[in-house]
Amino acid sequence: MANDVAVERFTALIRVPTVSKADPRETDWTAFSRFREVLAEQYPLVHEHLDRELVAEHTLLYRWAGSDAALPPAILMAHQDVVDPGEIAAWQHEPFGAEQADGTIHGRGTIDDKGSLAGILEAVEQLLSTGFAPRRDVLLVFGHDEETHGTGARAVAALLAERGLEPAFVLDEGGAIVEDVLPGTSGRLAVIGLSEKGAANIRLSVAEAGGHSSTPPAISAIGRLARAITRIDESPSPARMTQATRKMFAAAGRTATGAHRFLYRNIAWTAPLLRRVLASGGPETAAMVRTTRVATVISGGHAQNAIPERAEATVNVRILPGETVESVVERIRADIRDPLVAVETDGGWDPSPISPTEGYGWELLTAVLADLEPGTTAIPYTQNGATDSRSFTGLTPAVYRFTPFHLTAGERGALHAIGERIRVSSWLSGVAFYRELVSRL
Ligand SMILES: [Zn+2]
Repeated sequence: MANDVAVERFTALIRVPTVSKADPRETDWTAFSRFREVLAEQYPLVHEHLDRELVAEHTLLYRWAGSDAALPPAILMAHQDVVDPGEIAAWQHEPFGAEQADGTIHGRGTIDDKGSLAGILEAVEQLLSTGFAPRRDVLLVFGHDEETHGTGARAVAALLAERGLEPAFVLDEGGAIVEDVLPGTSGRLAVIGLSEKGAANIRLSVAEAGGHSSTPPAISAIGRLARAITRIDESPSPARMTQATRKMFAAAGRTATGAHRFLYRNIAWTAPLLRRVLASGGPETAAMVRTTRVATVISGGHAQNAIPERAEATVNVRILPGETVESVVERIRADIRDPLVAVETDGGWDPSPISPTEGYGWELLTAVLADLEPGTTAIPYTQNGATDSRSFTGLTPAVYRFTPFHLTAGERGALHAIGERIRVSSWLSGVAFYRELVSRL
């Protein structure tokens, strides 16, 4: 019964199409105002007992006052916005219909990230109904543009820094409870992000004289640009095993068998071998050990018989901890070996520092997991994708990225794609996780 009510509330949130667009002028902001109204209707106790502030117009900051003001607060994060569902006709279930079939809720945002947002609010609502009050302040931060620019979370982080707030830890979306992600391991793994890669868009541009295509120069703007991209592709960044990746393997060694057990448990001296295996093991494992660079947009030319004056490409980079946007730009310049290709960046952001696998936040997360998900091994990792929590690393070293749902490879594959869905049982176990976690604050 309580579960039915919880699911009802969750589906009400899925039905509001809070799509954020890269150009904020194209975003329908009325959906976000409506989303706030739905939150107030669905979670009345939260809205009665917690203070609520609106930051950067649409980002929500809730504060549940604790009984002991001396304790540092805990911050739980999620985001309100979702990725554009794309071609709606391609969805078997309407993306904002929140249809249920075979114990599964379908729709954009069911996992990313209204699954977490509703899970957190449900946990707090239920605890309030039992009369529970936390000892420390509990802050909830729900960004409005995580999928695009992350300005909402950045504004909240700046506001909290101004107020001198030093949280005990931050928990945001990230890894999940999964199987079969690391070769040689058995059983379930709770994958917790200690860090996230940095990212930037790097623009390559070539300006040439142009002219008629019947009398071409030795190399045209397009030819020069193509050569630059080829040089980038042919000289991948060096493979490296970061501290977070070493910790991941050391933890995974506890559940691995056979040769993998040996490799992982002895990571201190098997790292060079493992690094080579990962670097050549396919796109996913290679991304674990290196900064990735790939051309994603290209333009140039306007007529079939004219040599263009200008050609441009964007190279999207994902930066491993230990490097910076600046060092990656320098490396790209060196790999291109051509001063006539201009290299500029949109700024991007550096990788996040690596959070500790000790201390209050880590111990709390892993203790709740041990009690609620017996047989699951918690393992740290560096995540490829960005989250709003990257803006909070200046407030505390303890920033963790974990989404407490059981997700199959198929379910993970539908993130940011067609057919996003979550099993009701998986979502409810996530609610139980948040509830247990908050009850210990
Ligand atoms: Zn997300």
